[in-house]
Amino acid sequence: MPARTGEQYIAGLKERPREVWIRGERVEDVTTHPAFKNGVKSVAALYDMQHDPEMQAAMTYPSPTTGHPVGLSFQIPRTIEDLVRRRKMMEHWAWSSCGMMARSPDFLNIIFSSWAGAAGYFAQNRPEFEMNVNNYYEYIRENDLALTHALINLQRSRDPSPVTALSEQVALTLVKETDAGIVVHGSRVLATLGPISDDIAIYPVATHRLGDDANRHSFSFSIPCDTPGLKFLCRESLDQGRSHFDHPLGSRFEEMDSTVFFDNVLVPWERVFLLGDVDLCNGYGEGTSSNSHTGHQILTRCVVKAEFVLGLADLVINTLGTTTIPQVQERVAEMITHRETLRACLRAAEADATLNQWGVMTPAGGPIMAGRTMFGRTIYPRMVEIIQLLGTSSLMALPSECDFDTTIAPEINQYLATDTANARDRSKLFHLAWDVSCSSFSGRQVLYERMFGGDPVRTAIILFNNYNREPFAERVREFLATSD
Ligand SMILES: Cc1cc2nc3c(=O)[nH]c(=O)nc-3n(C[C@H](O)[C@H](O)[C@H](O)COP(=O)(O)OP(=O)(O)OC[C@H]3O[C@@H](n4cnc5c(N)ncnc54)[C@H](O)[C@@H]3O)c2cc1C
Repeated sequence: MPARTGEQYIAGLKERPREVWIRGERVEDVTTHPAFKNGVKSVAALYDMQHDPEMQAAMTYPSPTTGHPVGLSFQIPRTIEDLVRRRKMMEHWAWSSCGMMARSPDFLNIIFSSWAGAAGYFAQNRPEFEMNVNNYYEYIRENDLALTHALINLQRSRDPSPVTALSEQVALTLVKETDAGIVVHGSRVLATLGPISDDIAIYPVATHRLGDDANRHSFSFSIPCDTPGLKFLCRESLDQGRSHFDHPLGSRFEEMDSTVFFDNVLVPWERVFLLGDVDLCNGYGEGTSSNSHTGHQILTRCVVKAEFVLGLADLVINTLGTTTIPQVQERVAEMITHRETLRACLRAAEADATLNQWGVMTPAGGPIMAGRTMFGRTIYPRMVEIIQLLGTSSLMALPSECDFDTTIAPEINQYLATDTANARDRSKLFHLAWDVSCSSFSGRQVLYERMFGGDPVRTAIILFNNYNREPFAERVREFLATSD
């Protein structure tokens, strides 16, 4: 099957009902349930973009198996041009949600492309796992599946050592191996897009390093979301059923985060990619370069999101007539600096890309790490804060769309107009500014950017332990030596 349409994605979700729970209710159909249906529509729009005659060339490439067009994020890049072309495709998808849907399917397509490009890594444990990775990659590429992933084990308590101590009562644990596959039991967080994905991928993550004795927690696999025994427990929906005018982001881009429970779930052997080898599980991100490739998708989206919020700030100050005020200019200038810094990191990652040991063109890890770390730690929370500082009371003096149809409309129209915008246009804009900086949707966005790639403290510890500072220390020693 070539690249899917939105309709085919929705039909796939309907055909394979999964066990999803939200606010005490078992969801019958995620494509029609109010908590999910608009998020589903937004993902469907991404698939439709692959069939837009003006976009198809930018969004797809010919399948190496059938020659039919398949999603470009599945391409295994061999040249810098491939990376740049892939980034442009990802920009189109990111812009379609203003950078707010982080788990557009390209995120996991890229992981599996990088794994397939480095499939020999998986053979080190058991030779047949190389074939499993390659076959699964081809299967998701040819069927254009949307994947979620859940990498973090729930923990009963946080161990401050760099190695996570896992409780078998809670963490996802291997129960047994059978002729058909492996059986796993336990829980994982946090499957963003989980209820509205086709498959769920499970693997470890560097921030929660597995201990030497964690063999029964060391695996990587991927299974359909409707696999028996798999249950998704959702947080409350940020789509409150309001209009696009009132909740411009929440009414469109709810990608839903879910906790996943596994009740003795059978994973067929052909879907197992790693098993029982702690070192390979801890090392796959570097060993396959998937860290750099995912980072390329992440940073692409971060640049889009920064540009969107910068554009929003510009409209806010023009609407309020604050463009000549020095501190307003200084805050917007700060946003420009952030955008330029992120863009520079992205371009440096591409310009300094090199072939990895598997012959896959791999973005340079340093600028990727710097850009995505800065975005989550400081840039995005600060950009949101600046929208609050620029918007002030206009973020609260905010009529709902239906207020314009009431007897209070004349007052709204008279008093809420500014020199550059009528009351309706001002309100529409400030609903967007509110959804970026004040609503529950916006709070989750900030939390997401801070945490999704791992707690910043743990990430910093990894950076501290792995970054080669010695050349710089040596230069300082040389300078000190000149003072003797
Ligand atoms: C909105 C959102 C969406 C997400 N989506 C996904 C997803 O789709 N897939 C997925 O797999 N994950 C996802 N995550 C989970 C994310 O990867 C984790 O939240 C992140 O790795 C932190 O892990 P944790 O929540 O267990 O917190 P911890 O890492 O346990 O941190 C909790 C607190 O304790 C401190 N701490 C605990 N243990 C240590 C230690 N050993 N060393 C240093 N500090 C420690 C931390 O500094 C932090 O303050 C998502 C998270 C959020 C918030």
